Amino acid sequence: MSSMRSRIPARGRDRMVKDGALGGGTDLRPEVDLELLRGFRFRCRPDCGLCCYAAPRVEPSEQARLIQIAPETVLVGSGTDRYLGARPRGGACQFLDAHRCRVHAARPHPCREFPLTVHLGRRLQASIVLSCPGIDLAGLLAPASALDPEPPSGLDEELSAVRERLGLETARRLSTTARRGRKVEKSLSAEGRWQDDVSVRRVLRDRVPLPTAGEFPVHDPPEASDGLDRLPLFFDRRSGPLGFARGLGGWEVVEIAATGGAEPRGVFVPPERLPRLEAGAARLLEGYLRYSLDRDAFLAAVHIDMLDGDEGSVTEWVADELRELGAMVLARAVVRSKLHGVDRTALSAADVEDGIRATDQDWLDRPTWGDRL
Ligand code: SF4
Ligand code: SF4
Repeated sequence: MSSMRSRIPARGRDRMVKDGALGGGTDLRPEVDLELLRGFRFRCRPDCGLCCYAAPRVEPSEQARLIQIAPETVLVGSGTDRYLGARPRGGACQFLDAHRCRVHAARPHPCREFPLTVHLGRRLQASIVLSCPGIDLAGLLAPASALDPEPPSGLDEELSAVRERLGLETARRLSTTARRGRKVEKSLSAEGRWQDDVSVRRVLRDRVPLPTAGEFPVHDPPEASDGLDRLPLFFDRRSGPLGFARGLGGWEVVEIAATGGAEPRGVFVPPERLPRLEAGAARLLEGYLRYSLDRDAFLAAVHIDMLDGDEGSVTEWVADELRELGAMVLARAVVRSKLHGVDRTALSAADVEDGIRATDQDWLDRPTWGDRL
């Protein structure tokens, strides 16, 4: 065993793979589970820019190149924790200009990896941010038992960007998050509530819990005055990036300018009751909830919530959260269809797709006991 390898924490060692493909000697990197990328297709929409309504993290190694290309770069934060500063009145990243990135060649890693997101927990697991309108959601409909599902298409550059960042530091972080996970497990086990991820998925996967009347009405979004960066955003084919905010008598839909500031587009009443679904809509919703169940980040977020309660098993909590997530998707689907003047008796698959896109990033932003790559 080499001296380098002996410095890797024991837990991280389980996750290391040998890969000599980078040239020269042996490269030791943690392995990323890519199962949740299978079957998806991606093509960035040139008219979108949704993912640039963010303040991406900039690694120390990325700063010099960025400042060389754009000396006016504003970084906030301190030490190794630096971010691109947001525009004063909210809106998109300081470098988004007419849907284009002015520092494309030096954009920081979250931009190079999007729409991929990697959760560090007991393992590294890649997943897709389904709010991105460049992702074809047909990937959610692939049969669970497919023996040879298609690899992801159009995500090669993003995957390479993820792989470039894997190294001994990732293994160290993985060791830390796995330790945190063991603490959570111990705490819930002491109360007789713990079930591991495999058991939970085995119970819920084939009959994934769907929303019921009990989940309605759903929680309101924040108010616009709480900060535009807190609003759930989505890409609207006609208007571009829009957000939901709590408004008088319903949900306000606001148009957020790239340079900051928001214009109201109307107030719409979210559903009080469980909406009816066409058959294709129900299938898509079920596929999305199954996908969420398979995300380690989803389960790790539920574990955190459970620490604030004192009863109920992991399976029961996960089932409740899936029903709640499904209800949020449907409520946002209804409001999006009303925005376009449509008030259907039953939601279509396209409506549910809109609801998923308006919900997924928001749900992924929840805290977990793990971390993000
Ligand atoms: S959200 Fe997706 S489609 Fe839109 S700009 Fe970003 S990567 Fe492209
Ligand atoms: S650096 Fe470029 S790609 Fe990244 S958020 Fe800003 S404008 Fe978008």
